[in-house]
Amino acid sequence: MARHTDSVCTRCRSFGMKLFLKGDRCMTEKCAFERRAYAPGQHGQQRRKLSDYGVQLREKQRAKHIYGILERQFRLYFKMAERMRGVTGENLLQLLERRLDNMVYRLGFANSRKQARQLVLHRHFLVNGKCVDVPSYLVREGDVVSVREKSREVSTIQQSVEAVERRGIPEWLSLDPKTYAGKVVSYPSRVQLTTPIQEHLIVELYSK
Ligand code: SF4
Repeated sequence: MARHTDSVCTRCRSFGMKLFLKGDRCMTEKCAFERRAYAPGQHGQQRRKLSDYGVQLREKQRAKHIYGILERQFRLYFKMAERMRGVTGENLLQLLERRLDNMVYRLGFANSRKQARQLVLHRHFLVNGKCVDVPSYLVREGDVVSVREKSREVSTIQQSVEAVERRGIPEWLSLDPKTYAGKVVSYPSRVQLTTPIQEHLIVELYSK
């Protein structure tokens, strides 16, 4: 399976913003972007003027990296978003948020999307009581995502749940930390989506 092999912190520095790809480390002074907030490489500190196309492409790449998705799947999400009712850009963001790996991260069962993906693949989660090991599974309104009983002892999950009170969860989700279960109360509206993505640039890029 294709995957990104470059350093994740290099991506934040290239995109000029924190993408929060390394969990708790991103909140500490060890964050590479906090120490060197410029692009990597010999000419990283020089100003670069991007064309309109470059700006749109960069926004799409940024979204892909934040959610850990490769080009082919990202384009499929865009096609799905186009077919849905409503605003294509918002639909796209909503689809990305509805992925099971993102849901596990948002509910605080993992401290990064990458870790969440790994935990889902290792069959630690149930959706409405059934084990789901597909990170791209799209949850629906009313779905309950929970940790399997025997997986509640997994230290990464325990530590993440302990940290979730500090981090908080989005208002479109609800969480009961005692039963290790969270619910999709509703699909997120645009104002509830705080991920720093300008979706209209992605729509413009794919509409060319
Ligand atoms: Fe990005 Fe900083 Fe997290 Fe590295 S530690 S992934 S630079 S936010």
